[in-house]
Amino acid sequence: MQVAATDDWLDPDLVRFPAGEVHGWIPGRNSTICGLQLSRSRLRTFRGISWDDVQPESGGMAEAVQVVCRRCSAALGARPKSRRWSRTDPRP
Ligand SMILES: [Zn+2]
Repeated sequence: MQVAATDDWLDPDLVRFPAGEVHGWIPGRNSTICGLQLSRSRLRTFRGISWDDVQPESGGMAEAVQVVCRRCSAALGARPKSRRWSRTDPRP
C-alpha cells in the first residue's frame, strides 16, 4: 500500500514526501482507496512511500502530514503497529 496526498515537500536530498491530507493508494490505480479520483482531486502520488510511513505515530516521513484520511484508514484497518500487509521497499 502506498499513498497519495494533497501536497508534498522536498527533503534536502530532493526526495518528495507527502504533506497535507494523505490517502491510501495502490500503484497503477487512478483513484484512492476511499474512491477519490487522483486527477480530479489533484492528489500527488508517492511511489516508494508506504501507508505505514505516513502514519503520524511513525514520525519522520509523516512530519508534514496533517490529516490521514479516515475512510482510507477504516478501509485499511490501519493501526500504528499493524503489519498485516507486507511493507513495500523503502525509498532508494
Ligand atoms: Zn482517502
